[in-house]
Amino acid sequence: MLIQNIVAGNHSPSYYRTVLMNPPPFLTFAAKYMNIMEQKVRVRFAPSPTGPLHIGGVRTALYNYLFARKHGGTFILRIEDTDQTRYVQGAENYIIEALEWCGIIFDEGVSKGGIHAPYRQSERKDMYRGYADAMVADGHAYYAFDTPEELDTARKEKESRKETFQYDQSVRMNMRNSLTLSSDDVKGRIAQGDHYVIRILMPENEDVIVHDLIRGDVVVNTSKLDDKVLFKSDGMPTYHLANVVDDHLMEITHVIRGEEWLPSAPLHVLLYRYLGWDGTIPKFAHLPLLLKPDGQGKLSKRDGDRLGFPVFPLNWISPENGELSSGYRESGYFPEAVVNILALLGWNPGTEQELFTMEEMVQAFSLEKVGKHGSKFDPEKAKWFNHQYLQKKTDEELATLFTPVLKEKEINAELSFVTAVCALVKHRVNFIHELWNQSYFFFAAPTTYDEKTVKDKWKPELVLPIQTIASIINDANPFDAVVTKQAVMDFIKENQLNTGHVMNALRLLIVGAALGPDLFEIIKLIGKEEAVRRINNGIERL
Ligand code: GLU
Repeated sequence: MLIQNIVAGNHSPSYYRTVLMNPPPFLTFAAKYMNIMEQKVRVRFAPSPTGPLHIGGVRTALYNYLFARKHGGTFILRIEDTDQTRYVQGAENYIIEALEWCGIIFDEGVSKGGIHAPYRQSERKDMYRGYADAMVADGHAYYAFDTPEELDTARKEKESRKETFQYDQSVRMNMRNSLTLSSDDVKGRIAQGDHYVIRILMPENEDVIVHDLIRGDVVVNTSKLDDKVLFKSDGMPTYHLANVVDDHLMEITHVIRGEEWLPSAPLHVLLYRYLGWDGTIPKFAHLPLLLKPDGQGKLSKRDGDRLGFPVFPLNWISPENGELSSGYRESGYFPEAVVNILALLGWNPGTEQELFTMEEMVQAFSLEKVGKHGSKFDPEKAKWFNHQYLQKKTDEELATLFTPVLKEKEINAELSFVTAVCALVKHRVNFIHELWNQSYFFFAAPTTYDEKTVKDKWKPELVLPIQTIASIINDANPFDAVVTKQAVMDFIKENQLNTGHVMNALRLLIVGAALGPDLFEIIKLIGKEEAVRRINNGIERL
């Protein structure tokens, strides 16, 4: 009927608008079905706020972001804070600020909202219990009342036989749980408020297959797996239950996360099955580890401290002991460089290209080109990337970034002057703050003279010729680097002087040390009066 009316155009436009806003069930179904057919990509980054975000975590977020953008999908930030004993104040804000600094923008999530809000698991607390109960009712989970002391005794008993304890098929029937207690006893204990957890009943001797986009099929036999806790006595789900429930409710299509979660994946596959969500199980992609520079193990904060590079995106001061963990931002890295470095630690674009804008990465990225093996972090290469991004900035941008450093040194210079300085020395630095060591002499005359240079390069017999050079500089017309240089060189030649000796001594007088870019460029920038003044002062003092 509706279709006939639509075809016949029997109704006013507002009627059709109303129909479109409130579609009849078959249209909704069709739309949903088409959506499934299209598999609109939805991915999430799901950190736990237990401290500062490691750069490995930033890389996970980045790959999720690139994948979402590439496929026109949605990138979600979900905070997994169900383990309240590990909650660290300030960590969530740190995560958000770090992602923002890197330009990894999420579409839905904490502080932003979205169709599946809230995105902080502690605020979704009430959603999880029902799923755990349903699994108990279906015989896939059970209540366990073991006290910490009882668990400890069981652990020690196993260890005395040189075996490791895990709550699994080998021990569950000797423990205090709803598999071993009568149902009246169980009901009574729950009614009187005894502490208990809900554990999964791991099936015996079953191969579970995790289809992983990076690793292929990973098969694990359930005899190796324990009866993990799904729901805790504090009324909170564990990571495993909350993670799977939320991935399902938030319609996540791809779970892209670190390799450290691969051992949990078989359990997650079983949870999908037992909760009846087999048909919409997300695709998994477990990313390779970031390794220490020597390749021996996972990159840690200690490696950073030991080798002098940051392993965190931003500075972090521990609220517990005030300890500082240094960040890329505060160490002078550009966010574009950090993102570029991280992108290539695990993903191989398959070409020689090393420098990528975010847009280029989105275009080139694919999970097929992410390797299985860990990638070594190379701190020198990280500096190289920053150097490249520094060279990409205009001289004026560099000058603007350098100005606060100069201000700290109480130097007020014209932006155009700083810009010209940056143009001369930028090739020599990896970081903005390094510009100072390469350029301080542009902003102030030397007050001391490098001792070693004085000893090696200063010769009193050069005083007279250098005084003449001072007047050549003074008379240079036009006063530019090329003309001045030519005039000085002609003088050196005519008087059969040693060019090296003269130039070294001249540089010492003007710069105060044996460093810096082309001397005539320096002279040109500081101006002839200043140059002559420095020469005369220097001669007097040396
Ligand atoms: N909350 C987990 C973490 O801190 C998330 C793991 C996952 O992505 O499933 O890394």
